[in-house]
Amino acid sequence: MSRFSCICGEVTHEVDEPADASLVAYPSAAMLRTRREIAELIAAYVESGDAARREEWLRRYLGEPLGHDEPLVEIAELIVNRELNVGFLPIFRCPHCGRIALSDPETGKWEFFARG
Ligand SMILES: [Zn+2]
Repeated sequence: MSRFSCICGEVTHEVDEPADASLVAYPSAAMLRTRREIAELIAAYVESGDAARREEWLRRYLGEPLGHDEPLVEIAELIVNRELNVGFLPIFRCPHCGRIALSDPETGKWEFFARG
């Protein structure tokens, strides 16, 4: 996010954001399912055959062609990033007051929680 407005009144801009301010949470069941899907996708890519078949597999997976001769680690990272980019709950820890804000996935509104 480019900036975050906390209920404490402080605004944190992305460029000033501490590295541990933006977090994500996944429902446990979704994380278990996604981890398995990622493993299956990477295995399917590796086992799809020679370079031409792997390229075709990747084109079908992405819906568009990718460059030739991408290292396996780049392909694996692309798959991991793509699969983990859905189903998470954004969390922000205000660097000024320490409140935790959780974004409602339905409304996008933030709920704030403070240490008791
Ligand atoms: Zn705050």
